[in-house]
Amino acid sequence: MRNHLQQFATATVIVAALIFSGCSFSLLPGSDSVIGGDPRPDPGSEPGASPSPDPGSDPSQPGPGHIVPLTDGFDFPVGDRNGKGWGVTGYGFLEWSNYSGTWHPGEDWNMYGSPMADLGKPVYAVANGIVRFSGFNSTQGNIIMVEHHLPDGSTVWSQYAHLQQRWVAEGEIVGRRQIIGTVGRGPNNTFSPHLHFEIRIKYLPQNGWPRTNGQAWPKSKVLEYYADPTVFINSHRPET
Ligand SMILES: [Zn+2]
Repeated sequence: MRNHLQQFATATVIVAALIFSGCSFSLLPGSDSVIGGDPRPDPGSEPGASPSPDPGSDPSQPGPGHIVPLTDGFDFPVGDRNGKGWGVTGYGFLEWSNYSGTWHPGEDWNMYGSPMADLGKPVYAVANGIVRFSGFNSTQGNIIMVEHHLPDGSTVWSQYAHLQQRWVAEGEIVGRRQIIGTVGRGPNNTFSPHLHFEIRIKYLPQNGWPRTNGQAWPKSKVLEYYADPTVFINSHRPET
């Protein structure tokens, strides 16, 4: 327990140091489809901050009193547990996005049918975990980030963006298939309704995006931090 507390305290000190040193992470827009599927100019301002993700700043150690349930498999974030009725009809994983000038680090999920059909539909936690971020980001809208602890000892994060509503708060334990929010359109209805969904395999802050000082990360670096969501889920399906 003492070691556990020390780890937590260390992480807290590092995070505080980063905050007080003025270190900021990139807060950049997602690349996203709009109605009709055509990219639109980037409405967000680029702060020019470096994401410089530092492994030492990973606050993934749960605080005292938090018992994060291990994952028992992953389901899809929309539709039924297999994603039925939905598909990645917007930007796919590692597709080049002119909208953001980066490799798209996730998948844009839409419901088949009317472009507006997605709006307000439930978004589900893909696996058991703990909510690490639930808040608003001026370029991506409402975001939820859930941290997942796998039985093999690894940790991954699922990220859900452009939500209309957020139903969970930071620190909350969530279960697989728990509704955590609803599909939205991003800030100021920027986008056609869809879910921007990521699986991160290395810690990034909630507003992380794969570029540094305006330069898109190469694919090889994107792959250090992000997994192909559909491939990841399909290789981690629950037994039942
Ligand atoms: Zn997207």
